Amino acid sequence: MPNIQAKYYEKLPNKRVKCHLCPLECGIDPGKSGICRLRTNIDGELIATGYGQVVSLAIDPMEKKPLYHFRPGKPILSTGPNGCNFKCPFCQNWTISQEKSHTEYVSPEQLLTLADRNGSVGVAFTYTEPLVWFEYVYDCSRLLKEKGLDVVLVSNGFINEEPARELFPFVDAVDIDLKSASKDFYRKVCRGNLDDVLRTIKIAVEYDIEVELTNLLIPDENDSDVDLENIVDIVADISPLIPFHISRYFPNYKYTKPPTSISTLNRAVEIARRKLAYVYPGNYIDNSDTKCPDCGQILIKREGYHIDLPNGAVEQCPRCGREVDIIW
Ligand code: SF4
Ligand code: SF4
Repeated sequence: MPNIQAKYYEKLPNKRVKCHLCPLECGIDPGKSGICRLRTNIDGELIATGYGQVVSLAIDPMEKKPLYHFRPGKPILSTGPNGCNFKCPFCQNWTISQEKSHTEYVSPEQLLTLADRNGSVGVAFTYTEPLVWFEYVYDCSRLLKEKGLDVVLVSNGFINEEPARELFPFVDAVDIDLKSASKDFYRKVCRGNLDDVLRTIKIAVEYDIEVELTNLLIPDENDSDVDLENIVDIVADISPLIPFHISRYFPNYKYTKPPTSISTLNRAVEIARRKLAYVYPGNYIDNSDTKCPDCGQILIKREGYHIDLPNGAVEQCPRCGREVDIIW
């Protein structure tokens, strides 16, 4: 495994370092790691100790990311690191985001070879938090783009501006978790910051990346009408054409609340559809077709991760001629 110097840090007195990759700005003592557990102070230098250490490797349907408007129906090699800079108590992947798990080293060249097999269109960096796997994701993304393959990120969006701007020219699509419209929720529940996440979303839009957003709907935490109206306003202000996934929560990790009810999920979808063109319930099988926002023509029929294209991969709506917002 290579000893890769981390980017975005400064040296402090007494061999301490300060990491500037994400807004947590960890001050790290020698021999210790940052909150994400992927960057370690080794004798006064910050080393990307998570570099290439993959916690999982699988071919997934694009719909599982979830991305519904980017390469619909296509498989993509998916991988992620053993760490995260958030501490969401409802994390569905907590065994690999919050606990030390088995990893194996996969070099960027090896990942590139794997990404070009089995019909995969590229690599999705996902499962935990890819942005704090920065050096590896950056090196792989450059190679993938040189070979004409796709780069996808599924992320909490919690990264500082400069590294985001360095990486995003090599990224094709992102699904960013927008966990709540409440700054308190981000601070108290996830140990993050809403404004930093919103800045990342806006930078991704600026770089012309296909951006989709996902909100996990947690009973009594972020599911009131006001919560929903606020989050929908935030998304609509960025763009009403951003596909917005509202996912059912299921108890996991430290949260034992019962799952989101179907009636709450449907209410949330209905509220969001008042202002957004593409709203999809997640972790739920119905009501997920992609329709032309102007005339309602079905463009993609979905059942779970399976899709049908009643009119093929059209560039324009066959009924009204509107350009479709889908990258095939
Ligand atoms: S990237 Fe990791 S080490 Fe750096 S500031 Fe964020 S949590 Fe801390
Ligand atoms: S950001 Fe995602 S991976 Fe990280 S703790 Fe939260 S839910 Fe888990």
